[in-house]
Amino acid sequence: MSDLTFLAVHAHPDDEASSTGGLYRLLANQGVRTVLVTCTNGECGDAPDGAKPDADHHDGDLVAATRAHELDRAVEVLGISRLVRLGYRDSGMMGWPQNNDPECFWATPVASAAAQLAEILMTERPQVVMTYNEAGFYGHPDHIQANRITLAALELLDYEPTLYYNAIPDSVMDIMRARWEDEDRRRAEADAAAGIEREPEGPPMLDGEELHMGTPDELISAAIDVSSVTDAKYDALAAHASQMGDSFWMKMSKDEFRQAMGTEWFVRVTNPRHLEGRVTDIFAGYRD
Ligand SMILES: [Zn+2]
Repeated sequence: MSDLTFLAVHAHPDDEASSTGGLYRLLANQGVRTVLVTCTNGECGDAPDGAKPDADHHDGDLVAATRAHELDRAVEVLGISRLVRLGYRDSGMMGWPQNNDPECFWATPVASAAAQLAEILMTERPQVVMTYNEAGFYGHPDHIQANRITLAALELLDYEPTLYYNAIPDSVMDIMRARWEDEDRRRAEADAAAGIEREPEGPPMLDGEELHMGTPDELISAAIDVSSVTDAKYDALAAHASQMGDSFWMKMSKDEFRQAMGTEWFVRVTNPRHLEGRVTDIFAGYRD
């Protein structure tokens, strides 16, 4: 066993699998202690019957209960040592009425959630912490709030861990975007043929501007080869069946998934070990 601990702060059940599934499994295989903090219960996800959150019969509590089981399964698949659920209500996408629920994560004062997180950090003392960038990677309020509480919690610690944000290099994002647009076009055509009118989804927006989700390739400071554990990442995503049924990942065969998902990328935000350039080990600077 090592004395290394990794802790990620994720917004919803399933985010741990999509952005850090490979890293979690890889670290578990190395004997590293891994902690997952999941901020919300995911009430605004799709219902088990596929109902969208704006449907009349969509029951957020039922969705959360389903997702809790799915998260348990993913945690098992990824070999995560400890799961902490902060238990906030899902805030929904930006502008949704759920944003105003006083129990939702977005409406929670940063200081109070940060104090809760700081307590966990003080107990676990992870050398490496991961969350999303200031835009929450894609503009979701709960992801933005995960960033805010993590930054605030780090201020409360008596030591400085290395903080990473997850990232997708522009070169990879271009390929993914082409795939999404292609899928969107095909769905629109199928809808039109079936006489269904649907607004195109369009690009993610934040504060009235189109959000650029990619990171210039040269700014990527950690590229982790997770090709040995892509099957576990796939299985962890598949564990979130109620959310993933329609996702582009689940449309890939395991072979395609292995080809496409062999790397996870991160940007270093704090750098107490004075690392330079791009590393291939998230614990670079901490191993003897
Ligand atoms: Zn999420």
